[in-house]
Order: sequence, then C-alpha cells, then structure tokens
Amino acid sequence: MATSALSAPFFHDETAAYAKLESLLWPHGPVCPRCGSLDRITPVKGGRTGLYRCGPCKRQFTVTVGTVFESSHVKLHLWLQAVHLLCTSKKGMSSHQIHRILGVTYKTAWFMTMRLREAMADGALPPLGGEGKTVEIDETYVGGQAKNRHLGRRGGGKGRERPKAPVFALVERSGKARAVHVPEVDGRNLREIVLRHVTTGTTIYSDSNHPTRFAAHGFPGGSVNHKDGEYVRGDVHSNTVEGFFAILKRGIIGTYHHVSEEHLHRYLSEFSFRYSNRSALGVEDAERGETALRGIVGKRLTYRRTGGERPEAQTH
Ligand SMILES: [Zn+2]
Repeated sequence: MATSALSAPFFHDETAAYAKLESLLWPHGPVCPRCGSLDRITPVKGGRTGLYRCGPCKRQFTVTVGTVFESSHVKLHLWLQAVHLLCTSKKGMSSHQIHRILGVTYKTAWFMTMRLREAMADGALPPLGGEGKTVEIDETYVGGQAKNRHLGRRGGGKGRERPKAPVFALVERSGKARAVHVPEVDGRNLREIVLRHVTTGTTIYSDSNHPTRFAAHGFPGGSVNHKDGEYVRGDVHSNTVEGFFAILKRGIIGTYHHVSEEHLHRYLSEFSFRYSNRSALGVEDAERGETALRGIVGKRLTYRRTGGERPEAQTH
C-alpha cells in the first residue's frame, strides 16, 4: 500500500524532527557551535527537545543554532512540513497556503517562507557549464504592468504605473539554473553575471545578440533572431531558458500574485533551486527537501540584515 509522503514521524513529532535535522547537519555527531568541539557533548536531561551541553565550553545548544530556524518559536516538525511543501510544489506555495495548512498565523508563515527561500539561495555553488556544455541566457520582465514591457529598455512606464523588474537567467542544458534580478539589462551587468556564473569555454546561446559580447571572453556561442521568425537553428536556440521562465512566470502570477521588487531575488532563489534540483535530473522530493535543509546553515546573518529593517523578524 502506498504511504503518504507526510506520514514520516519527523513531520509530526519534535524528537523525530530533531533527529532528522541532526542526521543531516551533524553526520558525525553533535558539534558545539561555539568552540567546535565534537567531544564530551551530552544531552541535557530534562531540557527542551534536542538540547545538548558542551563539556569543554559549557555552552548549551541545539542543532538549529546558527541556522535560519534559530530564534523561531515554530516547532521544528512544522518547519519540516513547510520545507516539504515548498520543495515539492513546482509553482511554489504562498504564505496563505502555508498559513492554512500548518495552522500558524499568516505573519509567521510569511517569515517561514522567506527564511526557507534564504536556505534555497545558492551561496557559493560552482559555476555552470564547462567544456562541451551549453548555457542558454535570456532576460524577462516580471511584475508591474504588462503594457509597460515594450516601453523601453528600463521597463519604465508612464505616470504611477509600476515598471516591470528585469530578470536575467542562465540555464545549463540538462543542468541547473540561476536567475538574477538586475537593475538594468545592459552589457556591463550581463558580462559581470556571465563571468561569475559560467565556466570559460562554455557555449552560450540566446535569442538576442548577447552571445557576441562574450566571445572575446572565451565563450563560443550564437543566437537566433526571433524578430526574423527564427527560433531554432540546429543546436542554436533558447527553448531551455524560455521553459524556465514559463515556470517562473506561472508561479509568480499564479501562486504569488504579487512579488515586490525588494523580495524578488528570494523568489528567484526558490525557483532556481527547484529547477536545479528537479526530478528530471534524478532529484526526488525527499532529497530536494534534504538539500534545502542543508542550506539553512550559515544563512542567519544574511537573514538578519533583512531583520534589521523588520525588527519583528527574530520573534516568529
Ligand atoms: Zn563548546
């Protein structure tokens, strides 16, 4: 008989939830976050779930110290449910949905999803591509008024209409994706992004004249010209990156309805993460969730910067 994915004990039981996270973040046993000790670390008898004490430095800690879950009053098993929901729905899951399913307040759900997007951000991943590999690049515009799309390179519109925000994406064929919110689609921005995210020698294809800019930097490539009705010329096309944009737009329009420019990069992290860890690449739901959980480490400071603008960030 098939078993529900949500029937695992760590989705319902705090002790099992801590054991699950500890097995992912501490594969060699508990590590003291203050002094780094692996030795003489003992569970605190009668303490809260998952609490340990470090013999050498006397510090008490749990596995969530130094992660985006630290200082959260939400039970860990609910966090694990939220990770599962966000990682398994192709178009994302809104804070309203998380709020209704988990039974937490909307505000708490909002902070949870924002922290999880932080966990999905690719901090220091290796660049895309390599010899014999192909990366497609393209830009699109999200949010704002649709009719402003063609009003100019800056996406600016008339009067008080909100302009669309430019998003530049790089997608490796049969591989991962990166998406960046750029202030403006210009040669300097794109060159900087390509040099940072793509290995030299990678073939770059696009539907614009962008690839010609990168030839001098060691990236062979070519482009098709949609304006002339050309969409595919042998291997030269941008169907892969357009497929990524289609998922991104369906998610942002259908699930999130409205994404402010301030938070756009977090949503781009979320969509790039799911795409880069998709089942077509052999990554199944459980593994995708575990990858996201490994990403909760070391992101807390990043989150705190945001928390600085919103003092209540650390209380939910
Ligand atoms: Zn210690």
